[in-house]
Amino acid sequence: MDNKTNLLHPRAEQHSKFWQNAHAYFDTVYTTANLDPIWRPYLASPKRVLAVSCPIKMDDGRIQVFTGYRAQHNNARGPFKGGIRYDVSVDRDEVMALAMLQTWKNALVDLPFGGAKGGIVCDPKKLSMGEKERLTRRFTSEIMPIIGPNQDIPAPDAGTDGQIMAWILDTYSMMVGYQALGVVTGKPVSVGGSVGREEATGRGVMNILRKFLATQNKQIEGTRVAIQGFGNVGSHTARLLAGRGAIIVAITERSSGIFDESGIDIEAATKYYRENGTLADFPGADAITNEELLTCDCDVLIPAAMENTIDAAIAPHIQAHVVVEAANGPTTPEADAILREEGITVLPDILANAGGVTVSYFEWVQGLDNYFWDLKQVQDELQKVMEKAFDAVNAKADEADCDYRTAAYMIAISRVTEACKIKGLFP
Ligand code: NAD
Repeated sequence: MDNKTNLLHPRAEQHSKFWQNAHAYFDTVYTTANLDPIWRPYLASPKRVLAVSCPIKMDDGRIQVFTGYRAQHNNARGPFKGGIRYDVSVDRDEVMALAMLQTWKNALVDLPFGGAKGGIVCDPKKLSMGEKERLTRRFTSEIMPIIGPNQDIPAPDAGTDGQIMAWILDTYSMMVGYQALGVVTGKPVSVGGSVGREEATGRGVMNILRKFLATQNKQIEGTRVAIQGFGNVGSHTARLLAGRGAIIVAITERSSGIFDESGIDIEAATKYYRENGTLADFPGADAITNEELLTCDCDVLIPAAMENTIDAAIAPHIQAHVVVEAANGPTTPEADAILREEGITVLPDILANAGGVTVSYFEWVQGLDNYFWDLKQVQDELQKVMEKAFDAVNAKADEADCDYRTAAYMIAISRVTEACKIKGLFP
């Protein structure tokens, strides 16, 4: 089919940079890894993208219509799985790119899932709780035909949380007529969620950083860290690293940030951010912009906000020796090449932030079994999965003499290609 007429194809003219970036990483590795070329076009496009229109009644009586998406990339290894994002920047290309990354991530940590992603174009901070609930329930009913415990299992992502997952669970369960715990993960523990899920992405980031530092005969204690994004992933990463003796020199969120060479008191900053909705004027620290954070003097830089924040303009000014991609797609391919030339190690998103989906997998298993684990079991099992994935990527990087991203993609894409090959094509 002509690329321009296939709207799901990455080279169709109107596609955004992020989808092109996700595809560029895939393309390069598919060639380098010498994989069977016959499966390449199949893996290059999502299996399905559903766009829905969600009209809801606002608190002032108006009817407002929001656009939502669910992109399902590939399910050769199991049901689709991936987060739901509420943000004004959500669009079709973004969810397509994130769904593709999710396929590779799930395969890299060897979970029996394919990759998906969804979102609604909205500013969750400007919606009341009632509006958010009506929007979530309407969106769930609109994507109902393609989700389910054995079909596609959503989870939280930027702008969404356990409360939103509880509304998805309830809406879906009301419509099927029974409590379907396995339809969504990242639920509150009181409605069948898993202990340890909320902090899981941050804990996984910590596990991966610790493993990498060990290869350099270094440790977390005393390492100077800067973290962009102070939401779920950024704040838990900061708390866990600080708890192991890291010096968190800088943190930012969308519109404010702070720097303290001697180390920010993360507990106090978290309390301050919760109470004030901003980090501005946090006592004892200097104000810092997002750009200043990315280029500040530190050992480890952790982007934990949104995609494309490290681009070719900022990359040459980064002073960190290691970049840990806690966010999805924070580094553009151009910036990635610059960091490589500068000798800066990048621990890629599909490895570094896989802790969230791993505990989501544990939650799904617990929900299907109706048998719940304790926190220690969740944390121990998570550590095992993350360390095994790191060891595999590290060994592949040595064997193929390549960077960690290429190694991680090689492992992940090979596994998905193998599954496609063995199953064959329907009909
Ligand atoms: P969140 O909504 O809880 O927090 C996002 C944070 O980023 C907020 O502090 C926000 O102020 C900040 N931010 C937003 N736009 C920004 C910008 N342009 N510049 C600087 N800061 C900005 O979201 P989250 O769940 O912590 O997700 C963050 C990233 O991690 C996303 O890329 C997401 O896809 C990825 N991720 C999340 C999970 C998870 O379990 N939540 C798992 C894997 C990956």
